[in-house]
Formats: sequence, structure tokens, C-alpha cells
Amino acid sequence: MKYKILTWGCQMNIHDSEIISGVMQKMGYCPADTLQESDVIILNTCCVRENAERKVYGRIAQLKQFKQKNPNLILAVSGCMVQQPHVVEYISEKLPYVDILFGIKNVHKLPELIEITRQTNLPVIDISGDSRIDENLPIKHTNDAKAWVTITYGCNNYCSYCIVPYVRGKEVSRKPDDILREIETLANDGFIEINLLGQNVNSYGKDLNIPVTFPELLRRVNDVDGIKRIRFITSHPKDLSDELILAMRDCKKVCEHIHLPVQSGSNQILSKMNRKYTREHYIELIYKLRDAIPNIAITTDIIVGFPGETEKDFLDTLELVKAVEFDSAFTFMYSKRKGTPAAEMADQIDDDIKKDRLNRLMQVQDAITESKNNRLKGTIQEILVEGVSKGNINRLSGRSRTNKLVNFDGSEKLIGKLVNVKIIEPHTWSLLGEIVE
Ligand code: SAM
Ligand code: SF4
Repeated sequence: MKYKILTWGCQMNIHDSEIISGVMQKMGYCPADTLQESDVIILNTCCVRENAERKVYGRIAQLKQFKQKNPNLILAVSGCMVQQPHVVEYISEKLPYVDILFGIKNVHKLPELIEITRQTNLPVIDISGDSRIDENLPIKHTNDAKAWVTITYGCNNYCSYCIVPYVRGKEVSRKPDDILREIETLANDGFIEINLLGQNVNSYGKDLNIPVTFPELLRRVNDVDGIKRIRFITSHPKDLSDELILAMRDCKKVCEHIHLPVQSGSNQILSKMNRKYTREHYIELIYKLRDAIPNIAITTDIIVGFPGETEKDFLDTLELVKAVEFDSAFTFMYSKRKGTPAAEMADQIDDDIKKDRLNRLMQVQDAITESKNNRLKGTIQEILVEGVSKGNINRLSGRSRTNKLVNFDGSEKLIGKLVNVKIIEPHTWSLLGEIVE
């Protein structure tokens, strides 16, 4: 029996798919190469923007033909989308050939749900799930050298545009000993890079009986033998402490990169977004980070067209982008999410204006990214080789400590290893290099 998982969304979802994969393999299922040969197809969905939801609905509609050809095929939908009651209602009514709807906190129940739907031939829905952390779920890692380790689930921040706290629930931290045990096992299994995951890693530990801060956790992870690189995502500017900057500076395994979403450069918009920091505070953080770690790469997320965003607000964002010089940025048009405060705000922005602002923002950021990459020409970067390059199967690709994508010629035997690569041809989205001794 074979299964296929289709994943949308952020790194959290990609990691959740690794857990779903672990559960399926524990049941004896093997990964399928194609949808045609699958006995179970699982869609792990995202609802952060409307576009993501639209793609999932399109995919579910396409999969109807597979169900018609193979009535034994089980179609399951999970992830953030199904945590919204109106989505469950829509799928149950309009897409009744979906067999299982399960919440991400119920992944341990998947074997039981598959069994029920096979026996009854009826759809099953299991969305609720408690906030207790299941420490015994199997994980099938997609990469042999770099692993994702969740440190917090959920989010308490309620940024006014964001659906995540409603679908992922309140923030719950894993105990440091459980995290450390997992990382020690990963190190024993040969993993060399650890990526700590949470919607706001900087607020890690506040909810624990014996509180532990994120910088304290980072220092403990830094002491695990065998691990050579540590990354973390995502950092919220309001919780980024001086203590964290010092821990990043001191811990030699912590990579010189931080993803620090700014969202907007206008104080008026930041306040309406409920982000709880100002542009001045954000810029001060950038100075402190660069002061402590001079070669640090800084990346960000930016939303344009938030309700009430004036041309002046947008120009404040452009000006901040030029002043900070991010290494790269994920840029989004604001997308109205049902149930969030921003969706109810009166002054929604026209799509044409959003598109125009997005294009102008991308032009400015792309030029900065290109110029920053150009400065790397001739430098030697330590690269963790992740696999064969997506754009050219004759090349390898991997990431520098500053998270730059680097392609180069080399033997597939190097996959999973650290190599030194000289940058010979920088581009905007990647760097071309050659291995040096
Ligand atoms: N927790 C992280 C943080 O606070 O930065 C990221 C969570 S979210 C999955 C990733 C990014 O999606 C956010 O940083 C934001 O820029 C964007 N995003 C979230 N809601 C959005 C919305 N309604 N419209 C457009 N972009 C949105
Ligand atoms: Fe969403 Fe804000 Fe939480 Fe990030 S911090 S997940 S943007 S509510």
C-alpha cells in the first residue's frame, strides 16, 4: 500500500507532513512516486492567504477523477484549512468524495480514521484535538543532514491580519529536556543541522512550569555534540531580547542569519496590525544585531495593502527596506482572512493598488538582494550540501551559514556534508560557486 502527501504553506506544515509520513510508514505504507499509484492521498493545507486556499480547492477537484477510477483510494485533507468550520462545511457539502478531514493535532489518530472509512465507506471528520503535546509521534525526515525540530506550537500574538492563532491554537512550548533528547537522537543519527521551529521562537518557554528562555535553550542546543549548525524561525521583533543577540554571538554553531518579519515600515500600520513594536525599535534591533554579528544576513516578511495603508505609509515601508538593506524578503499582498480583525476594517485597499505596491517593493528589494549577493563574489562560503540542484541535475546545491542558496559542480557523495565553496557568479536568487579545498 502506498501514500502520497501534498503540502502547502510554511515550514511548520512541511514538518507536519514529515510526521504524517512517519505515521503512514509505521502503519506499513510506502511513499508513492505518483498520485496514480497511491492508495491514500493526504493534502496538508495552508490558509494564511486566500490564494493558498484556492489552490487546495482546485487540487481536491482534480483528484475526483482518481477517486472515480479507483474507488478504494482514500482522500484525506488536513492542516490549517480544516481548522476553520466554514471550510469543513464547504468540503462536506460540495466535495463529498473527500473521505477524511483530520486536524493536525489528531495525526496520531490517522490509522484509526483510515480503518473506519475503509470499513464504513463513509466520510469521517476529526478536527478537535487537545493542546497536549504528543512526544511519541514518528517523524520521517525529508533530508538526511538537516532536521526541523518544533519548540513551540500555536501563537498568542493575534496580529490583526493573521489566521494562524485561530487555526493553530494558543502557544504551547515543549519541555527543554524533550527538545534536547530529540536533538541528541538526531545527532546520533548523523544530522548536522538543526532548525528550531515556532511561530514566535523568541517567546519560547514562558508557559512552562519552570520557565526557560529561548537564549537559554539555544545555549543548551549549542552544547550537543555532533550538531554543527543551528538555525531558528520565526523571530518576532517585539520579543527579540539583548540576551538572544548575545547568545547568537557566543554560540558558534548558531548560523549568521535571522528571519525577522517587519511587515510594514509605517508606525500607523504596525499599530493597526497589532505588531507591538515601532519602525524605530525595529531599526534599533538591526543595529544591535549587526553590531554583535557583523556578517549576519537579515531576511524579512512584508505585507502591502493592509487596510488603510496610504501611499505615505507604503513609502515609509520602501524607505525602511532601503535603509535596512535586507538580504531578501518575502513580500505579500494583504489577503482578507475571515474571522480576523483586519477583515472587518473599513478601508480595504483595491487589488490594483496592492499589485502596484507589491511590484514597486519587489523591484527595490530585488536590486538590494542582487547588490548584496554581488558583494559575495570571490568569498569562500561553508555550504551544507542538500542535494542535486533543482535547476540543473548536473549540479549540487546547498546553503551557506547565511542561508544563501549556492549551486556548484560536485559528486553526489558530498550530499549531507559540509564543503567550502568559492562564489564565482552571484545572481539574484542563487549563487554559482566552485568547491575549494
Ligand atoms: N509567525 C511568523 C511571523 O510572525 O512572522 C510567520 C507566520 S505567517 C505563516 C508568514 C507570513 O505570512 C507573515 O509573516 C506575513 O507576512 C504573511 N501573512 C500572514 N497573514 C497574511 C495575510 N492575511 N495576508 C498577507 N500575508 C499574510
Ligand atoms: Fe500570525 Fe503574528 Fe502569530 Fe506570526 S506572530 S503567526 S503573523 S499572529
